[in-house]
Amino acid sequence: MDIIYTEDHRLRAAKTELYGGELVSPFECPERMDFILEALKERPIGMIKAPNNYGDAIINQIHDAGYLSFLDTAWDEWEATGMKGEPIPTVWPSRSMPAPHIPAFIEGKIGYYALAGETSISKGTIEAAHASAQVALTGADAIASGQAGHIFSLCRPPGHHASRDQYGGYCFINNAAIAAQYMRENGAAKVAILDVDFHHGNGTQAIFYDRDDVLFLSLHGDPSHAFPHFLGHADEKGHGKGEGHNINYPMAPGTAYSAWAEALDHALASIRRYAPDSLVVSFGADTFEHDPISFFKCKSDDYFDMGARINALGLPTLTVMEGGYAVKDIGTNTVNFLIGLER
Ligand SMILES: [Zn+2]
Repeated sequence: MDIIYTEDHRLRAAKTELYGGELVSPFECPERMDFILEALKERPIGMIKAPNNYGDAIINQIHDAGYLSFLDTAWDEWEATGMKGEPIPTVWPSRSMPAPHIPAFIEGKIGYYALAGETSISKGTIEAAHASAQVALTGADAIASGQAGHIFSLCRPPGHHASRDQYGGYCFINNAAIAAQYMRENGAAKVAILDVDFHHGNGTQAIFYDRDDVLFLSLHGDPSHAFPHFLGHADEKGHGKGEGHNINYPMAPGTAYSAWAEALDHALASIRRYAPDSLVVSFGADTFEHDPISFFKCKSDDYFDMGARINALGLPTLTVMEGGYAVKDIGTNTVNFLIGLER
């Protein structure tokens, strides 16, 4: 399985994250990729290739134009104010204060376009996010053109929390959604996105919620207890044409792999019934028992089995990297998953 990767992810190197009421060094950091690359060096599974450039056409289909231009200039506008730290939202539209107008001042715009407050925008963030989208598109192209049965797009920053016009949860551009859309535009009548990151893929769900050509399934920590807190419940099943094409598996704190794998088998049965032309897996290694910000209990060896069960679908499969913050183990667990996928 070839791996698509670019060093441009290092342009995303925020200094701060708001966590536990403190500004901490971000969990989502460039070193995450180094641990994965190191593990791929120890256990090579394929060639590491640079992404191609597919431009903005698909990105513009998935994201709002005003949102993308906000991301383009956010850092420069913030820097021009002379404020000392990195931009973190402090006020945003709410139940009692909806937003009939988009603010002109950067502090207001940040609130308007953010869905969560932990994620700082930093210099180079948008460049890294665009590079990450090209990593996903290159993988999608290899699958869509039939060049490969499996591809791993080693994306960073991750994407699954980013919706059409909001960022948060370390995500700015939704790589998995863009990959699925590319496949749809290039020969696939139906695509399934299986999100196995610990966190609910709220952005991906929202993007495809009213569509029946992309089936979205997510296994994740129950939002009653876990980020993103406001989306990811089992009764969210899609809307309009999309009714029945959104399937959530929220699971309780302490869930071990055996119970998680039962939910996976249920999800895989739904994918089989849907019979998509290709599959996008939003993979996060934060289901690991020692992940610092998550609460599932998957062990390193479980990732082989996770990959093998998904591979049994027999579908052309693009795996897109999402989260995973136990840096010492993220490499081992990710490579275990990829090896499992080829079993
Ligand atoms: Zn996650």
